[in-house]
Amino acid sequence: AIAVDGVSKWFGKLKVLDEVSTAVAPGEAVVVIGPSGSGKTTLLRCINLLEEFQEGEIRIDGEPIGYSGSGGQRIRRPEREVARMRAQLGMVFQSFNLFPHMNVLKNVMVAPVRIKGVPRKEAEAIAVDLLERVGLGDKLASMPAKLSGGQQQRVAIARALAMNPELMLFDEPTSALDPELVGEVLGVMRQLVEEGMTMVIVTHEMQFAREVAHRVVFMAEGKIVEQGPPDDLFGNPQSERLQTFLKRFR
Ligand code: ATP
Repeated sequence: AIAVDGVSKWFGKLKVLDEVSTAVAPGEAVVVIGPSGSGKTTLLRCINLLEEFQEGEIRIDGEPIGYSGSGGQRIRRPEREVARMRAQLGMVFQSFNLFPHMNVLKNVMVAPVRIKGVPRKEAEAIAVDLLERVGLGDKLASMPAKLSGGQQQRVAIARALAMNPELMLFDEPTSALDPELVGEVLGVMRQLVEEGMTMVIVTHEMQFAREVAHRVVFMAEGKIVEQGPPDDLFGNPQSERLQTFLKRFR
């Protein structure tokens, strides 16, 4: 389980996260929506320790990540510990970020072998299995540049899963894709939700949010304005800001 507790973050004088609190239970898929600049990406980056935050705490299974203590007593964890905790999180970005000089199989194998010390044969078997699950069992030897964007993003998902993460974070995973390739990536994500993977997904795909999310979080100006089951948020939005936001997608 992951708990975000009163997290605030500033970029200089700009407060981009304003006392954000939420929690993700094991097996839960949470979709974060909101206008551009509302702090969605920054929240994910704080969870993944790619950004520092100035107030509050984020815990994985009760263990504070990044920092321990509060107020004047906040202590940044040593890099080694941050790396260990980050290894529990899988991240999929808007840009696919595959290693261009490695084939698909190598891309998925490399982190378990180098970071976790998984034996090659074992890492390969896991990678092949994952690539079959994302529908790329016939592309093991392909180089990333030879693949479509949708295929590359599915490799990126397999690569993140290969580390056997507690939690998968997705930052607008379909925003850079041609429209006809969006469905295949959302399909893989939907399958992960059905398999019980714990996920936090930032997306502008409202249909996906409505159909697949267990819970939807709506952010605006660094704050969580509303959160709850998709039927409540989409069917009966309480705040004017969410009502206005959703009108754009009708
Ligand atoms: P989008 O949907 O466009 O990706 P978002 O909701 O993910 O938007 P963020 O990317 O988290 O929003 O940005 C939140 C705010 O923080 C914005 O005002 C943005 O300009 C600002 N911001 C983001 N990164 C930085 C940075 N490195 N330095 C300064 N300001 C930043």
